[in-house]
Amino acid sequence: MKTIGLLGGMSWQSTITYYRAINQIVRQKLGGQHSAKVIINSVDFDEIVKLQNDERWDALAEILIDATKSLEHAGADLLVICANTMHKVEPQISKACSIEIVHIADATADTVIKAGIKNIGLIGTKYTMEQEFYKGRLEKNHSLSVIIPNETDRKIVHKVIYDELCYGQVIESSREEFKRIITSLKKEGAEGIILGCTEFGLLIHQDNVDLPIFDTTLIHATSAVETALESKTKSGMLT
Ligand code: GLU
Repeated sequence: MKTIGLLGGMSWQSTITYYRAINQIVRQKLGGQHSAKVIINSVDFDEIVKLQNDERWDALAEILIDATKSLEHAGADLLVICANTMHKVEPQISKACSIEIVHIADATADTVIKAGIKNIGLIGTKYTMEQEFYKGRLEKNHSLSVIIPNETDRKIVHKVIYDELCYGQVIESSREEFKRIITSLKKEGAEGIILGCTEFGLLIHQDNVDLPIFDTTLIHATSAVETALESKTKSGMLT
């Protein structure tokens, strides 16, 4: 089994979900008392948010490159960046470090495509919903047709992430707003919804909406475990 390096703290609310899910999936796959080999490097989110607000993506890339290098030195074999948004600097990390990166958008796109869906709704931070590194990647690299909320609704979604979910607050009126926004994406042709923020699982569950949901945290965690166990599958031996 390879050691999974979690680049967490963005926010720590979802790092907890990753840690729990990765261990549960390993247990499901291997049984017994098996658990995942994990190293967590958790950054200070306040620093991250301030730099995001100032659009200082190069400074953000430096922080995540340093954090990735420590994970590599500590023995991580693969990297999981525990946030959709910070995949914006994945190309810089990939260039500066040799560790294998499990990309959240690619893992999600594969899952959406396997479900037979082409027209997919996407909610997340404004960066994730609007920019090339994420929406564009789904469209260009995976040929998905991506539908995002209108500008007013994008602002609502973005604000709920930073003002509520990243503080661990789950507010019923926000859940109702999300249900309304997801319904309007369905009216525009979405056949499913990508929960493109790693904290969304705190607020939205499959029984809240009548479209299939694709929770990026759980998809990413599953993909990380599959990659970590790949040598076992190939050789048929426990490592
Ligand atoms: N965890 C979030 C995401 O998946 C948002 C917080 C952030 O990293 O900016 O995009």
